[in-house]
Amino acid sequence: MAVKRTGKAGQGKRVGGYVRISEDPNDEEKGVTRQAEDVRDLAASLGWQVTKLYEENDTSAYKKRHIRLPNGRSVWRVIRPKFRQMLQDYEDGIIDAIIVYDIDRLARQPRDLEDLIDLVEHFKRPVIGATGNLDLMTDHGKAMARILVTMANKSSGDTARRVAREKLQTAREGNSRPGTRAFGWKADRVTLDPKESALVRKAARLFIAGESWSSVTKFIADSGIPTVMNGKWRIRTVKNIVLSPRIAGIALYNGQMRPDREGGSTGVDFLDMKARALIDEKGDYVQGKWEPILPVEEWEQAISEQLRRTEGTEFTSSNTRAHLLSGLLRCGRILDDGTTCNLVMNGTRAKQRTGKYTAIYKCPGKVHGGCGRNQRNMGKLDLLIEDLFFLHLEKNAPVDEGTAPEQDPYDPIVEKLEDVRSRLVKMRTGMRDGKVSPESFFAVVPGLEQQERKLLASLSKAKNAKKIRDKKLRSPGEVKQEWQQAVNNSARRALLGQYLQAIVVEPSQTRGTVFDWETIKPIWKNADQ
Ligand SMILES: [Zn+2]
Repeated sequence: MAVKRTGKAGQGKRVGGYVRISEDPNDEEKGVTRQAEDVRDLAASLGWQVTKLYEENDTSAYKKRHIRLPNGRSVWRVIRPKFRQMLQDYEDGIIDAIIVYDIDRLARQPRDLEDLIDLVEHFKRPVIGATGNLDLMTDHGKAMARILVTMANKSSGDTARRVAREKLQTAREGNSRPGTRAFGWKADRVTLDPKESALVRKAARLFIAGESWSSVTKFIADSGIPTVMNGKWRIRTVKNIVLSPRIAGIALYNGQMRPDREGGSTGVDFLDMKARALIDEKGDYVQGKWEPILPVEEWEQAISEQLRRTEGTEFTSSNTRAHLLSGLLRCGRILDDGTTCNLVMNGTRAKQRTGKYTAIYKCPGKVHGGCGRNQRNMGKLDLLIEDLFFLHLEKNAPVDEGTAPEQDPYDPIVEKLEDVRSRLVKMRTGMRDGKVSPESFFAVVPGLEQQERKLLASLSKAKNAKKIRDKKLRSPGEVKQEWQQAVNNSARRALLGQYLQAIVVEPSQTRGTVFDWETIKPIWKNADQ
């Protein structure tokens, strides 16, 4: 979440993995082998490799030992040799990054953590957690780690527990308050600004009702009310406002996510917006201190609407497009340097010599990165693709051979999800009954919640893929019928998208009214795509 885990720059990093054996009876965590597996998985997903694994054995190392510091002072310290070795290797450049299984396993002693933070600030090599959102590269991550370690370092007992829990809660709520005024609220960041909040509410409802992001953005811009930063309204800004949990009065995990943030490469994944909503141990949303603009249910609708639009719309952008082949056509013109233009051709109108307008698909001009020198008559191209589509359906009609029952591809995911959820329930009830310490709870639950979200995402992906596969097993007649009954071009385009990857449009070899269909090259998807 807080960690941006794409890391192109991080290719081939040598990673030190840190795992710990613990004999904490409250610890419902994984064994060392499975911890190491998770660390390796995360490394692999980042294109990194775990070259050294540091296995700390707490049972012997947890005891304090009497040591003498260089200045002659004598102190009691918890000595953790593997941790110290890892710090040394990080400093010496033997490893380029550290992945720790979780913060509870990283450091029980605040001074251990501070030593590591000092190194991170100096060498700026990533230190991240395989569970939860530990990322010592960010200020937020450091603050979070300090709180968790402080908590972990406290002895158990009711007072300590209560204090630690309140501390964490305060920290989370404090972090979830916007750093500056967010659009929709007054300068006190709590009370609604009547005009702005009404605008945001209307915008959200337009989006839920099916309006495109660009038309919602236009609606807000047309109001004449500027952004908080007095800037121009952008789609990204509006998405940030409408999809943020803050709109429903829900606190955020990460206070850095300000809905008023302007454009730029913030790396915000809008699909992850729901994951930013802060959840308490019972699984309920944590309410922020500010007045909500929308009821929680409506915000959830907006999130589902965004998901719905993003799923299965591989070739359409967030904008609703009116033309049948919008987004599907690629300019196949060979440029002077020998490369293919490859830009998406857009639907537009061209004035003819007669003064009349014709609808065409056109490669955008040079300012948009295209060649601007390739265009086709829209009506003729639409008809040609329709013909080619039906032909493709006939040629690839499914063979009826009493297909063997296929195993559901999402069964294993469901199984895992059930496991994760039952562990979450166990932790939550355990926390309520006082059987699970807040230390264990907060060390384990964020990781489990993250797993839950990941599993839900892959489940919906798998379901979607299956839906598309099932659809492809339909007979050409059924598909044709759906095509003919489709209410508009969007519906027909969605159907095309199940079968078509793209259509390459090479420059026409003929002049005038003859339509050069040989230069139109559809790229069909494989059966399992
Ligand atoms: Zn072009």
